[in-house]
This record gives sequence, C-alpha cells and structure tokens, in this order.
Amino acid sequence: MGRLEGKTAVITGGNSGIGFATAQRFVAEGAYVFITGRRKEELDKAVEAIGPGVTAVQGDVSLLDDLDRLFATVRAERGTIDVLFANAGVGALAPIGAITEESFDVTFDVNVKGTLFTVQKALPLMQNGGSVILTGSTTASMGTPAFSVYSATKAAVRNFARSWALDLKTTGIRVNVLSPGTTATPGLLDGLARSGQEGALTAGYIAQTPLGRMGRPEETAAVALFLASDDSSYMTGSEVFVDGGMAQV
Ligand code: NAP
Repeated sequence: MGRLEGKTAVITGGNSGIGFATAQRFVAEGAYVFITGRRKEELDKAVEAIGPGVTAVQGDVSLLDDLDRLFATVRAERGTIDVLFANAGVGALAPIGAITEESFDVTFDVNVKGTLFTVQKALPLMQNGGSVILTGSTTASMGTPAFSVYSATKAAVRNFARSWALDLKTTGIRVNVLSPGTTATPGLLDGLARSGQEGALTAGYIAQTPLGRMGRPEETAAVALFLASDDSSYMTGSEVFVDGGMAQV
C-alpha cells in the first residue's frame, strides 16, 4: 500500500522539475494529484508521462481568478484536499544596480503573492491532518550573488510557514517549508544557459556543496513525500533542506 493511498494532492508548478517529480511520486504512492502551470503543452506532456491519477488545470498562481478556477475544479472532482504543495516559483539573475521593476514585480507576484493566495484559497478544502508544503530555497538563508530579489521572496515564504503554523493552530493543518539547494531542473538549467556563464556558475554551486553535485528532482520529491505523509505528523512551521549540505556548513 502506498504512503498516500486515497489522498488528494494539489501541486502548483507540477509540469516541470521538482513539482513534476513530486507529482509522479505522489501518484505512485496512491494519491490523486492535480497539477498546475501556465504552459498547457507542458501540462499535457506531464499528464501523459504520469498516466492515470492526475488532472492538469492550466493557470497562473499570481492570478486570483485562475486559483479560484483551480480549486473549484478540485472541489467538484474530489471535494477535499489532503496535501497542498505550493511549489510554483520563478527567479532571474540580476545584481543590485541592474534589477528592473518588472523583474521585481513578477518574482514577488509569483513567489510571494502566488504562494499566499494558493494556500489561502485551498484552506477551505483542507481538514484536520492536512499538510501544506511551501517550496523555499537555500537562498533564503544565505547571500547569493545577483539573486537578492528571488532570495528575498523565499525568505518571505520561510516566514509564511512560521506564522501560518500559528494561524492554523487549532485546525490540525501543518505547514512546512521544503528548501532545495541547487537542483538540476529545466528551470535551473535553462536559467544557467541564459546567463552566458553556465560553466562558471555550475562549478561554483558544486564547489559550495559538500555532496559535490547538484540534486535530482526525485531527491526533493522524496522529502516532499515525507512532509506530505503522516510520517511528519509532529512537524509544523519547520524548514527541511534538501541541499547536499550547501546551506548547512
Ligand atoms: P522549473 O522546472 O522551472 O519548474 C517551475 C514550475 O513552476 C513549472 O511547472 C512552471 O510551469 C511553474 N510556474 C512558474 N510560474 C508559474 C506561475 N505564475 N503560475 C503557475 N505555475 C508557474 O523549476 P524548479 O527548479 O522545479 O522550481 C520549482 C520550485 O523550486 C520553485 O519554487 C523554485 O524557486 C524552487 N527551487 C528550485 C531550486 C533549483 O535549484 N532548481 C532551488 C531552490 C528552490 P509554467 O512555466 O508552465 O507556468
């Protein structure tokens, strides 16, 4: 029997990288999973790869109407949510001096506003024993060159879990942060390629990481499974790092 047998999970940013690997794992563990993302064709590919047990709902987490449509679909098809993985996120490299207003707005809209309203709009469908997982980042705990805006959004996400654990004190709903280190996802690899400094940046990340390599999305998905399941039933407000030791030393 799977560790999420009979449960319903919603994963934002489920068509790629960490969210996709987690959707695959949750379905393999017996959950029914809803995935979201803005790109319809990537959602279709993800559904085909995962097979039965998944529904895709196209939408942007920074648009409240899209979130309403997502949760209306979940309510109609499954009634309740056991696990919410608020994982959709974006980031762009720019040092102070070169940060644009547009890049600031997009990053905060998706990572902070999107995370907040994803959780707020899911809560009416969640019950005692529910698990909310927010995707943070090692960058929230460290300085990272040319990544201050993204890092600040993830520091905000880290605090959301601390504060929401208190707001949800009497509900039995747990909120934890899962913070990956450098993980080889399409999002990261495309960003590195666009930077024009792929080799130097990759070598730098690996040199900073005690395990001496990038993580694989499946390794983050394994920890998402732990936070989703009753194995973590006495954890809330916590941050769990899956970072090869990067932010721990
Ligand atoms: P990825 O492969 O680019 O996946 C990002 C996912 O988020 C995609 O499914 C994307 O789908 C979705 N997304 C982005 N903006 C969205 C929006 N406005 N509305 C709905 N969905 C949106 O990157 P990833 O590395 O797996 O990233 C997943 C999470 O991990 C992010 O929160 C990221 O900040 C975090 N993280 C990643 C690393 C790393 O090294 N990879 C490290 C620390 C933290 P669409 O483009 O189709 O919308």
